[in-house]
Amino acid sequence: MGALPLSDEDEPFNPATLLAHDPDFPEHAVVPPIYQSSLFTFASHAEMRAAFAGEAAHPFYSRVGNPTVAVFEEKIARLEGAEAAKGFASGMGAISASVLACCGAGDRLVAVRNIYPDAYRMFGLLLPRLGIRVDYVDGGDLAGVARALDGARAFYLESPASWVFDCLDVPALAGLARAAGVTTILDNSWATPIFQQPCRHGIDLVLHSASKYISGHSDTVAGVVAGRRDLVERIAREVHPFLGAKLAPFEAWLLIRGLRTLPLRMARHQASALALAERLAGHPAVRRVLHPGRGAAGAALGGWSGLFSFVVDESVSIPDFCDALALFKLGVSWGGHESLALPAAMALLQQQGPNSVRDFAVPERLIRLSIGLEDVEDLWRDLENALAHHG
Ligand SMILES: *Cc1c(COP(=O)(O)O)cnc(C)c1O
Repeated sequence: MGALPLSDEDEPFNPATLLAHDPDFPEHAVVPPIYQSSLFTFASHAEMRAAFAGEAAHPFYSRVGNPTVAVFEEKIARLEGAEAAKGFASGMGAISASVLACCGAGDRLVAVRNIYPDAYRMFGLLLPRLGIRVDYVDGGDLAGVARALDGARAFYLESPASWVFDCLDVPALAGLARAAGVTTILDNSWATPIFQQPCRHGIDLVLHSASKYISGHSDTVAGVVAGRRDLVERIAREVHPFLGAKLAPFEAWLLIRGLRTLPLRMARHQASALALAERLAGHPAVRRVLHPGRGAAGAALGGWSGLFSFVVDESVSIPDFCDALALFKLGVSWGGHESLALPAAMALLQQQGPNSVRDFAVPERLIRLSIGLEDVEDLWRDLENALAHHG
């Protein structure tokens, strides 16, 4: 399979064209074949020797690499303006492998607050067992970040932040980390590479839960990390094969299909979510709308996806609101065709014990919405009707 047709140096960044084009597949198929094969054989001892010596790019076992997965990885690398990418079985697979490739016993990881809750739980439960210390910082306090980065190994960011959607000054934070010799890892699932390409702003590793917008159809759990070639290769060599969270060829094929419409879908998610955020902000029972398009713009953010939150006043019974929704389903995850609602009190605030994320600065009466691809007027009628169900 040849290289993808657009080259970063020579061509302007054009995701729609990049995603519609492919290398030349066998038989000139326009869609990549699903290499549903656990292993790949060698024609000769010499070919096998060259592959094992790393002299020839020949797939040999699908836990380590697979040609369908490689097509997906190449597309993500190009979209992110990154040197390389590695697919994973989930976003958490990408997060754990990235952190473990950068940090070991005795190292310190600095993280911004309000990251994805399972990343937060992993940092609290698993990393201390491995001798990795985690310090949280306010990503808006550049002086505080600079102090925390002194002597740290890695800096973990998510922008906009989970649940509250505060935007970070990604170029400034990347610059501070670079000056301190600290590796940066940024969760870009919310913005997707359509609206934010953090590597172009100095971030070393960018990762995604591809289960969200990249898949776009709520039919896949997958992840990917992209960034500096030396770091992606370290992940691929030292962590990915051993933790075993490999991306499966069929999942990669679904992701490649999802990517074809990513620019179109993101434009629709953006427009519908902005319209609904505006109308919610004008509703008498809504105290606050947390949507990055309504606050200070992120320095690296070129658009807004379809996930945001709002806070209702005491006149609204949150259980009654949830039960009155007809189009919005109640559920976790986001980024698919279907609109979803999730109350923070359910997802974050009621949990006790080691899995609790009670340190999150999330208002108690907050409801998160993932705006899908339905007609925006139908969605507004559903929200308006449910808000009228006062407790
Ligand atoms: C869902 C999610 C993840 C984890 O991804 P999985 O594919 O569920 O493992 C990571 N980061 C963010 C922001 C997410 O929403």
